[in-house]
Amino acid sequence: MFLFETGMTWCQHMQMPRRQNNPPRILIVGLGVAGACLYWRLRELGAKVTLADPNESATSSRAAAGLITPITGANFALSWRFAEIWPESLKFYQNLAALTGESFFHPLPVVRLFSSDAEAAKFTRKVAHNPFLETYLDLVFSASDAPSELLGSEVTAPHGGFVMPGGWVNTSTLIEETRRELILTASYREQMVTSDALDLSRSTNTDHPVQWNGESFDLVVFCEGANSRHNPLFTDIPFRPAKGEFLTLKAPQASAKAIINRKGSWLAPRHNNEWRAGSSYDFERLDIEPTAQGREQILTNISTFYSGELSVIAASAGVRPIIRKSQPVAGFHADHQRTIAMLNGLGSKGCSTGPWAAGHLAHAIVNGTPLPPYLDLAQLANNPQ
Ligand SMILES: Cc1cc2nc3c(=O)[nH]c(=O)nc-3n(C[C@H](O)[C@H](O)[C@H](O)COP(=O)(O)OP(=O)(O)OC[C@H]3O[C@@H](n4cnc5c(N)ncnc54)[C@H](O)[C@@H]3O)c2cc1C
Repeated sequence: MFLFETGMTWCQHMQMPRRQNNPPRILIVGLGVAGACLYWRLRELGAKVTLADPNESATSSRAAAGLITPITGANFALSWRFAEIWPESLKFYQNLAALTGESFFHPLPVVRLFSSDAEAAKFTRKVAHNPFLETYLDLVFSASDAPSELLGSEVTAPHGGFVMPGGWVNTSTLIEETRRELILTASYREQMVTSDALDLSRSTNTDHPVQWNGESFDLVVFCEGANSRHNPLFTDIPFRPAKGEFLTLKAPQASAKAIINRKGSWLAPRHNNEWRAGSSYDFERLDIEPTAQGREQILTNISTFYSGELSVIAASAGVRPIIRKSQPVAGFHADHQRTIAMLNGLGSKGCSTGPWAAGHLAHAIVNGTPLPPYLDLAQLANNPQ
């Protein structure tokens, strides 16, 4: 059972005074977007953090294009709680940039191309019914007044589209910068953590009750991504992971100055004249091997709006950790409330939701601040997808 009573926090469950162990010793399991964000959030609040990760090359966070797109999907919906979440996450990336001297978030306009006149009409109706969407619209255009300064000469927009403010997060920089800091502070353990290697038998003691690998901790937070579906501690959680493939491209003629999106397919500029294109969803095959079929599908989709030359430099894949669409889940384990927690379910939007969710979990751990019910693991059954 992973659910426990509504609205209670870790500190309340433990019936402990706040911050009895000062600073709390936390073991984070996994260095993807979730683990990295939680590390910095906990560090900010004074926790003593150790992080274990096997440093695998093909993870969801390594595969992420990191796109931040306010209005998404076939129904032109605003991303889940975007107005609440994104300002908070943006502040996190900006503060981390100031702290480390690295850039994490790269602002860039996002152009959504309509795939038909019917889709353009659907969008017009949607905005008429939901005027708040206009907050996220920089420009709505038809085929005749498409913004060539954003599209360049190789991207076609025969049915028009719209432009919104967005950008991309460099997840590799986020992970590598976090790993660098962990190594510098002797807090990095390059290895897997299995639940049977955790000794929870001292859980009745109040002082650093969890033993792992000869070290003692107050709390272990699993940020394992899709791998958590194999964790015996989380068998009750309805994981629905999805493999995604993407391509790294050279496109010498491409002159677009925006992320281009059409019917879920995207082409996004990176550094050094490289582009990324993606991506696919496969809920059956959850390996991390790129396939010829995936590559073909991405290239076919891109060719519906990009007419320039392209050459594929690399094909890659990762498995998105989905629990409840792309709505993250964080909280404390019902049977090990003092000692086990998790942050997972970042889905296909981890770059916008990860820092926000990690901030709430860090405050719940260190200060006993209640988690929002729509994030709280304890409320998962009450807030299904
Ligand atoms: C093709 C593709 C495109 C995407 N595009 C976007 C996008 O444009 N925008 C966006 O916001 N999101 C995107 N995503 C989603 C994004 O990648 C995820 O939301 C996010 O990276 C998930 O991070 P995570 O830390 O939860 O999981 P992961 O990235 O999977 O990280 C988990 C880490 O934990 C480690 N680990 C697992 N088990 C253990 C263990 N037992 N012990 C120690 N370590 C362990 C793993 O090795 C890994 O390093 C995309 C995903 C894919 C696959």
